[in-house]
Parts: sequence; structure tokens; C-alpha cells
Amino acid sequence: MKALVYTQPYRVSVEERPYPQLEDGSELVLIRIGAAGICGSDMHAFHGSDPRRQPGLVLGHELAGEVVESQSPRFRTGDRVTANPLIVCGQCEFCRQGRDNLCSDRHMVGMDWAGAFAEFMKIPARSVVKLPDGLSVQHAALTEPAATVVHALKLTQRALHLPLAETRALVIGGGAIGLLTVLVLRAWGCRDITLAETNGLRREAAVRHTGCVGINPLETPVEEAQMQLVVDAVGAAPTRQMALQAVKPGGVVMHIGLQAWASEIDMRKLTLAEITLLGTYTYTMDDFCVTLKMLGEGALGPLDWVETRPLTEGQQAFDDLESQRVSAAKILLIP
Ligand SMILES: [Zn+2]
Ligand SMILES: [Zn+2]
Repeated sequence: MKALVYTQPYRVSVEERPYPQLEDGSELVLIRIGAAGICGSDMHAFHGSDPRRQPGLVLGHELAGEVVESQSPRFRTGDRVTANPLIVCGQCEFCRQGRDNLCSDRHMVGMDWAGAFAEFMKIPARSVVKLPDGLSVQHAALTEPAATVVHALKLTQRALHLPLAETRALVIGGGAIGLLTVLVLRAWGCRDITLAETNGLRREAAVRHTGCVGINPLETPVEEAQMQLVVDAVGAAPTRQMALQAVKPGGVVMHIGLQAWASEIDMRKLTLAEITLLGTYTYTMDDFCVTLKMLGEGALGPLDWVETRPLTEGQQAFDDLESQRVSAAKILLIP
């Protein structure tokens, strides 16, 4: 089968890989990939800056497709499915609490498990979920990034002191996570949303597709202490600083992007203004299923901001994302 392999920093190439074999007794499902999205974390790998993703790896963990072979009676050949790429143990303290995203023995597709930028991929049946009728395979490939947002905003809601409908929110970053954050916030009743994005192409596309207010923070600095909620979907030193500046006393900063691992933050403001600073990682299986249902119901709109390209043109897609030449917040590769 054909697969897009990360071979060295800034290079991905189409290679022939063996057709995946389902080992006996492991309850695996073999999926023919219909669409797989390029994620920010695939870009980190592409830069050579993710020590967990080394050359030789097939990247890609945002996927949907069709079952080709199943060792589980829950699935039949031809079922349209997506899969939670976080493969968890099901037995540790966190899994037993339903906080399986924190599993202490977890694996991740496209990281330590052959990924979805390929014609076929195998995965444990317990990670696989059937698509609702009417949801296309391409839109279903957005379940993973959207579930990341749903999880983050569920954590946020627990910390906010007012309902989302009354919350003034700033979202920093207009990539897929930022755009999906605006869409999920809207779906859950939030109306006053500003998006800060420096890339004009992306900003205009995000405003067009979500109806939020767009600002270029390099030209229009965010107002001091005006937002009850700030979501940092970039996670770099300047965006963390912006988030802390923009948040109102008693407000919440949700940190969801992670470009830079460490930087100084204004602990004085955090303390004296009683700011809640939250981190978030992926999603639970429950979040994943809730998100798939939302997508199936059209709760996140027509999703027409997604671009598709053939898997064989993967290098070009990575290059275009790298040079920020695309307005689309998400590129899906089609094998
Ligand atoms: Zn992702
Ligand atoms: Zn576990």
C-alpha cells in the first residue's frame, strides 16, 4: 500500500509499505482511509521538533474511512467509521475514572503507531466509532481536532463563573483548533467572540466562516482585562502574554496550543486577579463520541473551510502549510 512517510525534517515522501496484518487475539479493525487531516502536531514533526515523532514514521491521526476487516463483531466490512487515535489501556487509575486522555499507558496513532497518511491503517476496535448517517467521511475526519476543542471547553465551563451565552471570549490563533473553538463556543451559546490572528488570509477566512470579529493583534493590540475567557490556540510566549493581559479579573485562560514549552507568565496578575489558567490534552472517548454526534447534527456549520488534496501531493500540502500560503484552516489528504 501507499503511505506518506516522514523521512527527514521538511520532507515527507510517498513510499510503498506492507499491507497491515491483524495479529490474532488483539481485536483489531483494518480501515481503508477515506480522509486524514494534517494537524499542528504533524507540522511539529515535519519541523523535526517533536522528539516523539522520528523519521520513518507514517504521520496522521485525524481520520475516517471504511472498515475492510474486523476482528470485533461490532463492525462489518463497509461500515463507515472514524477512530479515536489515542489508544489507552482501559485499566489504569485514569481510565477507570473516565479520564482516559490521561491514561498512564497510552499510545498515539501517527506517533508510536503507524498513522493515517496511508491507504490502510489498523487500530483496536475499542477506538473505532461508526459515523452517523449523512456525515461525510471527509467531515468525519474533523472529529479528532473538534473533540480536542470540546474537551477543552468542557473543562473551561467548569471554571467559568457565568454561562457561555454571557461570556466575552477571545480566541488566539485562527488555525483549525482556533476556528473550531469559535464554532463550538457558538454552538454552545457564546455570541461575543473575537479572534486574534496575524495571518490575513486565515483571519479573513475565519471571519467569513464563523461570523466572529477578527483582529490582527500586531496592528490592534487586544484591550487590557476585557475578556472573561481567553483561549490560547497557539501557545507561544507572546500569545501566553497576550492571553494574561486580555483576561478580566476572575476570568479563565484555556491553554490549548503548545508551540513553546516554557516561557514566563505574569504570575502577579494570575494571583492578584484570581485568574484560572487551564491546560488541556486531547479528549476522552466520551468527548470523542459527543463531538461526532455534534458534527452529524450539523452543529458546527457547513464545514466548508476544509480543503482536500491527494495523499500523493502531501509534500506540497506540508510546504504550503509551512509557508502559510493557504487560507484553509485544515487540509485533508485523500489516499
Ligand atoms: Zn490532531
Ligand atoms: Zn489507562
